[in-house]
Amino acid sequence: MKLQDPSLLKTQCLINGVWCGAPQLMVSNPANGNEIAKVPRLGAAETSAAIEAANAALPAWRAKSGKERSHVLRRWFELLMQNQEDLAQIMTAEQGKPLAEARGEIAYAASFIEWFSEEAKRVYGDVMPHPQAGSRIMTLKQAIGVCAAITPWNFPAAMITRKAGPALAAGCTMIIKPASQTPLTALALVALAERAGIPAGVINIVTGTAKEIGTVLCTSPIVRKLSFTGSTEIGRELMAACAPSIKKLSLELGGNAPFIVFDDADLDAAVQGAMLSKFRNAGQTCVCANRILVQADVYDAFASKLATAMANLKVGDGTGEGVTTGPLIDVNAVSKVEEHISDALAKGAVLLAGGSRHQLGGTFFTPTLLGKVTPAMKIAREETFGPVAPLFKFATEDEAIQMANDTEFGLASYFYTQNLARSFRVAEALECGMVGINTGMISNEVGPFGGIKQSGLGREGSKYGIEEYLEVKYLCIAG
Ligand code: ADP
Repeated sequence: MKLQDPSLLKTQCLINGVWCGAPQLMVSNPANGNEIAKVPRLGAAETSAAIEAANAALPAWRAKSGKERSHVLRRWFELLMQNQEDLAQIMTAEQGKPLAEARGEIAYAASFIEWFSEEAKRVYGDVMPHPQAGSRIMTLKQAIGVCAAITPWNFPAAMITRKAGPALAAGCTMIIKPASQTPLTALALVALAERAGIPAGVINIVTGTAKEIGTVLCTSPIVRKLSFTGSTEIGRELMAACAPSIKKLSLELGGNAPFIVFDDADLDAAVQGAMLSKFRNAGQTCVCANRILVQADVYDAFASKLATAMANLKVGDGTGEGVTTGPLIDVNAVSKVEEHISDALAKGAVLLAGGSRHQLGGTFFTPTLLGKVTPAMKIAREETFGPVAPLFKFATEDEAIQMANDTEFGLASYFYTQNLARSFRVAEALECGMVGINTGMISNEVGPFGGIKQSGLGREGSKYGIEEYLEVKYLCIAG
């Protein structure tokens, strides 16, 4: 990995403006298993120190005007974009996604800092009529306080900026615990935050044992809010750990996105959307199409067009020319994909493409297409998080909606139709937080991202995102 600015490869953590900790935990490249660098193994004591630092930095940061905070965030945004190439190189090295996707993620990540640098200036309260003449009601919005962010490895940059942008814009201070697989992107982002002039203690980052750090962040009475992106299983644990101190929570958890192709869809557009939604990041996103439901009349045509499109996918090291599909993050990810495929085949699914590990070895997996998948199979119930497209057949719109909603998750859904009335009908009937209509790409900084049911709580990005970091205070003014 060649960086234009090698100082972005940080191997220490930032607590109270001091880079600290001895490099101990290995970070490896999923494409070849090679060590990239080591990062500190910090624990309870350092996490407590980071919380104290964030608490000490809070009064001064919160007291700045939104415009002042906006200027600093804007500088951070500019530095992220100026260093886009280096950040992308670091990300591809530790996460595996193709460089083009990594560059795209840095731009996406930076867009949250840009957006919230603008929103920082637009935190409004209300004046309301009081029920008694002569009195007034006024509301103020104030920063919640010290916040914690625990983030996953699939979007090592964007999952951090989606939390840091609104938190810092609102006047909160924070402690970040990045995923142990991808701490280097996170450390580089924080190094740029420091260069942008974000004061000591306002943004802190700790790497180390997730459980130990997470326990301190969740149980500390100083931390007023936790924002977590990751699995539903861990989200549930963290929610319970936050209960005694009644923390505010934003949880962006697992999904099981249906991708519905109606018989009046533009099939070529639907294939293109399915490719984007299913195979981005080798299928390792929480909004990936997990179940592709196709209406009976167009099932065969769609399956054959999708198989043709999949034949163009190129598996390889993310830095390779033309590579579209990198390695999976680790061997557990490969095992889960294999388990879903073998369970489906044992229960009657048919293999239309792929189906096994890739000849490159390691954690590379061949993009796979399964036909005749049914709701009885594991792949219909659990998030696969890999490059496997399962096709389900349905007869009627009602059946499609019933199948789509038959899950405890409710993050993203997608459907393709040319019928406007159906678009509204289906969009309103789907139990989820986000709906892609004739598109497989729903993520941007302007739309509210988040789920319902067991996919989580709260929204990130958009005009709603900053509210998650604000409390409403009501002033009752008499006389
Ligand atoms: P994934 O399957 O995407 O790795 P996880 O939910 O396991 O999702 O992890 C998401 C984030 O939560 C990572 O930063 C991970 O280190 C962290 N994490 C995992 N287990 C715990 C825990 N018990 N307490 C706190 N954080 C945790």
